[in-house]
Amino acid sequence: MTIEEIRSQFPILSSKIYGKDLIYLDNAASSQTPRCVVDEIERVYFESKANVHRGVHFLSQRATEAQERTRRAVADFIGADSTDEIIFTRGTTEGINLVASSMGKLLADGDEIIVSQMEHHSNIVPWQLIGQTKRVEVKAIPVTDEGLLDMDAFRSMLSEKTKVVSVCQVSNVLGTVNPVAEIAAEAHRVGAAVVVDGAQGAPHMAVDVKAIDCDFYVFSSHKMYGPTGIGVLYGKREWLNRLPPYQGGGEMIDHVSFHGTTFADIPFKFEAGTPDYVGIAAFGKALEFIDKIGIDAIAAHEHDLLEYTTARMTADIDDLRIYGTAPEKAGVISFNVDGIHPYDLGMFIDKLGIAVRTGHHCAQPLMARYDIDGCARASFAIYNTREECDRFVDALLRVIPMFR
Ligand SMILES: *Cc1c(COP(=O)(O)O)cnc(C)c1O
Repeated sequence: MTIEEIRSQFPILSSKIYGKDLIYLDNAASSQTPRCVVDEIERVYFESKANVHRGVHFLSQRATEAQERTRRAVADFIGADSTDEIIFTRGTTEGINLVASSMGKLLADGDEIIVSQMEHHSNIVPWQLIGQTKRVEVKAIPVTDEGLLDMDAFRSMLSEKTKVVSVCQVSNVLGTVNPVAEIAAEAHRVGAAVVVDGAQGAPHMAVDVKAIDCDFYVFSSHKMYGPTGIGVLYGKREWLNRLPPYQGGGEMIDHVSFHGTTFADIPFKFEAGTPDYVGIAAFGKALEFIDKIGIDAIAAHEHDLLEYTTARMTADIDDLRIYGTAPEKAGVISFNVDGIHPYDLGMFIDKLGIAVRTGHHCAQPLMARYDIDGCARASFAIYNTREECDRFVDALLRVIPMFR
């Protein structure tokens, strides 16, 4: 598929904003959605809507099959052994909260959890919440000036007290691709469980949870061309069997009585209540869409845009500061221009049709690390083009003098 053919599947990309062609460079916050995904939502609502795993009737079976097909596709997409290890959630945030909440019940006073300074708030706060009932300390791996994890510091933080190490595969601000397999190996040496926040990994690079050897891997559908409100938690079978349930309700039980309730087997033990089976079916179409193009082709295209845009920005924009210059980097450029508030920059280029994110990017500790309140961020997806990147840089060059 050519980029033009890909773009034609995203009606929103041909819309105009303030009379200008939309250039959507906020993909790290949420990607746009192709027609096949939205068509599937409509198809399920009109043709096979019925609750899953509950009825013997035709529609319920059809809805269940659609949901379970996506579970199979997800397992294949990330290289999991079994569909039992795939739990549907509302997103990355809920996935991490699930693990933190259930894991927290197994922890004791004095235990430690290691995250990093570059984590999204959703990979910090759920771990801190354990501290409300237990004396469990959350420590952060420092980040170097280029935006790499300080691996020596990480090694020195590990001890028998470390029970969980939870880090992002790719930073949503710095774009840094972290050595998660190496981190997992080190963490396992002290017996800690390893959680990988794959919110920026799964959409942008081939993922193999077995090669990483992480115990948990979480990501969100809405950042990878799928519908909102759907996420995935992968967990190794042994861990999922060991963790207590997160929420109670329908679907997650084996037998309920007032003398004692037993729980369903995984994955259903962690899927209380009616899931968003419509969204899950549609997420399957997003995975098909990615597979049709090929995740490696997506990664290569986004990398080309990253190199191209970084080179142009660096050459043409004075007093530019890019946060995150790791050798291995995904398609994210976070930056500031001296003396200009990122919010002003974002607002002015918005008027030229260009969507970028500004602010702290749900990573206030990382902002503190670089001694800034926030920055602007351009982030790429498969449908972006070099021409759009040129228009983005040209727009910056046009608005920067207005502040000088
Ligand atoms: C977006 C993001 C999250 C949170 O994902 P939600 O879909 O909002 O739950 C967590 N971590 C990273 C790295 C992210 O980019």
